[in-house]
Amino acid sequence: MSQQQTRTALVTGGNRGIGFETCRQLAGAGLDVVLAARDAARGRAAAQKLRGPGHRVRAEELDITSAKSVQECAERLAEAGIQIDVLVNNAGVYPTDGFFSLDEDTFSHALDVNLMGAFRTCQAFVPAMGRRGYGRVVNLSSGLGAVTDNIPSPAAYGITKAALNALTLVVSAASAPSVKVNAVCPGWVRTDMGGSGAPTSVEKGADTVTWLATLPDSGPDGGFFRNRRRIAW
Ligand code: NAP
Repeated sequence: MSQQQTRTALVTGGNRGIGFETCRQLAGAGLDVVLAARDAARGRAAAQKLRGPGHRVRAEELDITSAKSVQECAERLAEAGIQIDVLVNNAGVYPTDGFFSLDEDTFSHALDVNLMGAFRTCQAFVPAMGRRGYGRVVNLSSGLGAVTDNIPSPAAYGITKAALNALTLVVSAASAPSVKVNAVCPGWVRTDMGGSGAPTSVEKGADTVTWLATLPDSGPDGGFFRNRRRIAW
């Protein structure tokens, strides 16, 4: 593959928030973008907003809690001749319950989205990256799941993001050196999840995501980053 080849990025939960802004930034950087959303109509509407001269954005239905949905999305892309070079595991949920008020369904759903979703997409898309000799994986984590900070978050969110960090290290070690797998804390960002009082704009929140998604071959692998700087797990 030449350095000039156009790369294709798939972003989960691309229809709003940091995922949508990441799609916008990646399309602006010249990548082909697959904007994945669990609701097909919302995905199509979001992709339509981003299309323009030189901005190639395709919508795909993808519910990361469903192995079938992940498999069908991968099959549709393969049938269309689209190879995924960059995977941004952005989709996430933020339950706010403390540990002793957390019910099993809420915890289980958070695990399914925040951890198992990335497990499913990594298994679906990362092996082919290794075979082709190029790949970038960015997992949207959070400082609220940092074990060095005693996981300072609502229970399910912190546990699932700490587990996503563990998955990041394991996928990084399991992948070819040409595939760079990193986690990012975008900061506290003004989205539906972060709320209107959050200090960080969505553009700034997505900046480190875009940076990790477009790392040069000399870039880091198996790290955790905020504001383009390495932070402690
Ligand atoms: P958001 O505005 O709440 O958007 C969440 C996105 O995830 C939506 O597109 C949502 O789709 C999607 N999603 C949820 N469940 C899904 C599923 N089963 N399958 C596919 N997509 C699903 O969140 P955000 O603030 O942009 O956050 C994006 C990521 O950054 C998350 O992983 C979050 O934990 C992380 N993060 C955010 C902040 C912050 O301050 N905002 C801080 C640290 C980390 P629907 O529209 O269909 O619901």
